[in-house]
Amino acid sequence: MSLPLSDYEKRKQISVRGLAGVENVSDLKKNFNRHLHFTLVKDRNVATPRDYYFALAHTVRDHLVGRWIRTQQYYYEKDPKVSARGRVGEGRPEKGYGGMEGSGSLDSWVTFPGLPLLSLCCEQGLERAHAASEATGPFCGWDCTGLEWVGECPILTCPSFLQFFEGKELRLKQEYFTVAATLQDIIRRFKSSKFGSRDPVRTSFDAFPDKVAIQLNDTHPSLAIPELMRVLVDIEKLDWDKAWDITVRTCAYTNHTVLPEALERWPVHLLETLLPRHLEIIYEINQRFLDKVNAMFPGDFDRLRRMSLVEESGIKRINMAHLCIVGSHAINGVARIHSDIIKKSVFKDFYELEPQKFQNKTNGITPRRWLVLCNPGLAEVIAERIGDEYISDLDHLKKLLAYVDDEGFIRDVAKIKQENKLKFAAYLEKEYKVKINPNSLFDVQVKRIHEYKRQLLNCLHVITLYNRIKKDPNQHFVPRTVMIGGKAAPGYHIAKMIIKLVTAIGDVINNDPIIGDRLKMIFLENYRVSLAEKVIPAADLSEQISTAGTEASGTGNMKFMLNGALTIGTMDGANVEMAEEAGEENLFIFGMRVEDVEEMDRKGYCAKDYYDRIPELRQVIDQLSSGFFSPKQPQLFKDIVNMLMNNDRFKVFADYEAYIKCQENVSALYKNTKEWTKKVIKNIATSGKFSSDRTIAQYAREIWGVEPTHHKIPAPDDPRE
Ligand SMILES: *Cc1c(COP(=O)(O)O)cnc(C)c1O
Repeated sequence: MSLPLSDYEKRKQISVRGLAGVENVSDLKKNFNRHLHFTLVKDRNVATPRDYYFALAHTVRDHLVGRWIRTQQYYYEKDPKVSARGRVGEGRPEKGYGGMEGSGSLDSWVTFPGLPLLSLCCEQGLERAHAASEATGPFCGWDCTGLEWVGECPILTCPSFLQFFEGKELRLKQEYFTVAATLQDIIRRFKSSKFGSRDPVRTSFDAFPDKVAIQLNDTHPSLAIPELMRVLVDIEKLDWDKAWDITVRTCAYTNHTVLPEALERWPVHLLETLLPRHLEIIYEINQRFLDKVNAMFPGDFDRLRRMSLVEESGIKRINMAHLCIVGSHAINGVARIHSDIIKKSVFKDFYELEPQKFQNKTNGITPRRWLVLCNPGLAEVIAERIGDEYISDLDHLKKLLAYVDDEGFIRDVAKIKQENKLKFAAYLEKEYKVKINPNSLFDVQVKRIHEYKRQLLNCLHVITLYNRIKKDPNQHFVPRTVMIGGKAAPGYHIAKMIIKLVTAIGDVINNDPIIGDRLKMIFLENYRVSLAEKVIPAADLSEQISTAGTEASGTGNMKFMLNGALTIGTMDGANVEMAEEAGEENLFIFGMRVEDVEEMDRKGYCAKDYYDRIPELRQVIDQLSSGFFSPKQPQLFKDIVNMLMNNDRFKVFADYEAYIKCQENVSALYKNTKEWTKKVIKNIATSGKFSSDRTIAQYAREIWGVEPTHHKIPAPDDPRE
């Protein structure tokens, strides 16, 4: 290497930082060629892009193994607390969004070398689930004839496990498999540590909760609770009370949703055939728990029924969230408003029993992926003003408040946004064959398609704008490109119809010569992290418009804020804290608050009242009913209209007027680039709270009882040197 890197170049290389310091480029090339030749047995004439990729991956790995082994030795000597963060994913690499799920928390984790992590996810390819292949469990307690008790057997050769059923049953097997493999690995490590092996004959588990933390990320790994009990009671021969104390002190539970349909409830008959011993243990946990509730609220039988782990209405089911709460010492929501709702409504009974268990951990995103990597232009103009400390301590962004009125900075921020928009427009033209006006307001709603996220409210706004231009084509209009992107769950009919509607609206509007390039509606297909990294830096307006009380936190909202988009949103999820950090006047907040929604639930929500009262809304709904946007299939959107008019759990019409009005304010401000950009700067400057580094540090201190440090483990000796 000859020239020293500029700060800008260093930031561009942030993802290979570890590498850059270790070795010079010619060594790197040598090792790359060595792997291509000896590991992949290819030369450059026959190597495919895949071979190059793996040769590079092996080269990178060589640098990591030394550090990996050294790290293991260091942890063995120091025995700090190991935390397992359970999440049973579907095994796809793009599972985490770089929010708090998967890759984002891993990225933040490695910023604190004092926190060892044993992850169930293999997203960054460094963790190996070698334990998985050796795990045993009583999957099929009974053999396939149902006559003989089989007990412990390697899960992978267990006849019942190998018999793969469709759907639900397969999912339960996956969840149990991941949990069992991880717990066995944790216990093996604990036993080989000096804390577990004091007694050569029988392991003492006294120190287990001080050395191990299991964070149940949603209910998917909830079987960890009965599985840990099974291991401690059946195999390690601890008495029940001792085992239960250890289990509760080890486990903690993060809730991710309050929507009842998303809470896992496994039918008892499934557990009976697949995991009979676990079901027995769950029954025992429930019995002891209900005894405790009964002692505190004698004779309150309705309370006992509500709190039971076993639901008896309809087919008998186990409520896995209840199991998680009972078996954990800490329960947290993922934004302040969500944690409050948990205490006040869904888990109120549990809060009244054990209020000290309930906490909040507001989600965060990794600024490495969601600023430095995806928006290097913005990262650079920020660093030019305040240095690059903000990359590892996002609160430093506050220093930008000194530049809110700085003409040069305003110009730079606006210029970077315009460049990002041009780049994204070029990408859309190339990949999606659509042409958009790069001078229009980029209005973006990207997230899973779901009724509660209210992509339909956005659609009603777009149609309203269309009708307004058509009614008075000569009026001044602030040009907009509305982009909606996201995937729909395969079996979710209305979600698929929402996608159809977005494309249908686009087909009409985008081809109407009277509209021209003043309004466009684009559906962004195949929305995923790599597309998020392109569209978010180009967005002017971030749509976060869920019905108040339904979005647990959201992380998309934070990504947009950090990338210089203004938010139009309801007081829901982390929007509330974003408004608190930036000042409510620097977001476009509209619509019902949680209390208004609750009030409406008491009085009853009547969509037809809004339809009758608001002419523009009525026109839009009539267009949908009459097939205006689907002339070949006039009935196409009848299910959507029917839902909106007759059983809309998310009260779209109730926020329609406020939303339209608020969007008028958006357009008005957008005309004034300078004032708009000042608000953008205030948002960026106050987004520090939403770093996942802060989130992880809070989990560490307030749930796992460990102090995160930036203290670095000494660099490994490279055995090749
Ligand atoms: C961040 C992210 C999400 C989450 O978005 P929300 O607006 O918080 O629902 C979903 N998908 C992808 C690809 C993301 O990057």
